[in-house]
Amino acid sequence: MGVTITFLGAAGTVTGSTYLVSDGTTKILVDCGIFQGDREWRERNWLEPHFNPSEISAVLITHAHVDHIGMLPRYHKLGLRCPAYCSPATAELAALLLTDSGRLQEEEASYRAARGRSRHTPPLPLYTEQDARESLRLLRPITINSKSRITDSINATWSLMGHILGACSITLEMGGKTIVFSGDIGRYGEPVLVDPVAVPMGDLLLIESTYGDRLHNGSSDVHDTLAEIIQTTSKRGGIVLIPSFAVGRTQTLLYYLRELKAAKRIPDIPVIIDSPMASDATEIYQRHTNEYDNTALALLNKGFKPFHVPKMYFIRDREESIKLNSISEPMILISASGMLSGGRILHHLKHRVTDRKNTVLFVGFQPPGSRGDWLKRGAQSIRILGEEIAVRAEIREISGLSAHGDREELLRWCRSCSGTPGKVAVVHGEPDSARVFATTLRDQLGWNTVVPSYLQTIEV
Ligand SMILES: [Zn+2]
Repeated sequence: MGVTITFLGAAGTVTGSTYLVSDGTTKILVDCGIFQGDREWRERNWLEPHFNPSEISAVLITHAHVDHIGMLPRYHKLGLRCPAYCSPATAELAALLLTDSGRLQEEEASYRAARGRSRHTPPLPLYTEQDARESLRLLRPITINSKSRITDSINATWSLMGHILGACSITLEMGGKTIVFSGDIGRYGEPVLVDPVAVPMGDLLLIESTYGDRLHNGSSDVHDTLAEIIQTTSKRGGIVLIPSFAVGRTQTLLYYLRELKAAKRIPDIPVIIDSPMASDATEIYQRHTNEYDNTALALLNKGFKPFHVPKMYFIRDREESIKLNSISEPMILISASGMLSGGRILHHLKHRVTDRKNTVLFVGFQPPGSRGDWLKRGAQSIRILGEEIAVRAEIREISGLSAHGDREELLRWCRSCSGTPGKVAVVHGEPDSARVFATTLRDQLGWNTVVPSYLQTIEV
């Protein structure tokens, strides 16, 4: 019998990455992500797992985003006791992201309890912050770029992918077969992190396709637009409010702001980061210099810190966060969550969006129908924390800051890898982009592609 892979997530969608790999005797998971987005997908987080958690021998994690690791606390609660291997930075970031995920689950459960909307009485969180903390003991950091022994018959190698700190592809050797899991593929030439690293292809490649049918704007556009928005807003005495993911996006922004200030392209106004998680994540980014590219290393050698912006302040304390409301001079205020789904950003938005001097700047994806989406489409008013608030601030967007490679970058990584994969499963994309990217790989590289469906099993 060969090796089988069952697609338990990231098939037909971008979330819930989970692949069950079996050689007939040993079962492992590669990633164990949570489903996000529509209710129909989120309901799947509550299903009985399609495997017995106590029978899993190892979990291999590509990176710390919860759509790749967010089910670890739940599976741990259901009996998963095996080691979960990942890169050292992933283990550190997972501690932040999983506990935050537990906290959000608890908040959502109490919100549903207050509204009487739940499939459970009383409403339950999928897992708690404490559950998340307990599952962290499963994490085992590996050494990047060197073969790790997973069991007597299974080896795996992690190679950097530049998507966020710690993000890697995984080359799995099991049952005489070699399977490459791309994980999420980062950008080329982006600040600080190395470009996606080429790996030899084997019997099967699982490749992500989030932007398999699209191209991003170039990074020079990002510089110019960011500078223009900050100049215009501070000239009229306003504040630039940026909803941002705490991990990855905030650090990229800090890098760009440092460059713009050094080049005197923006005024030397305060840069406030109001998010305890962003402070912790930035500290972790500062420590893992082994993942930096040559430009970032050269900066370090010259005594510069890549994420250090003059007049930069991290706010941890809730009281300090509230005090920010009284500041009316120009500043750049970065806060989480990036999708306006909760957190301190909502208070800042409520306070700042009514003033036409200010700018709300979106730097990440806003799901259709969400608050951010309404704002971007020019809503005159918006409901925040139970109140209808008039929108007078300028609403802007920078779209080139994605952490995912676009179609050309995905192809560039494929071309950089040696050998031709026996088969390619195109995953982690909405149906259209997965289908378009599978066709592109077939046409341009002659690769043998399939687009697996949810719960499908293929054999190599
Ligand atoms: Zn990711």
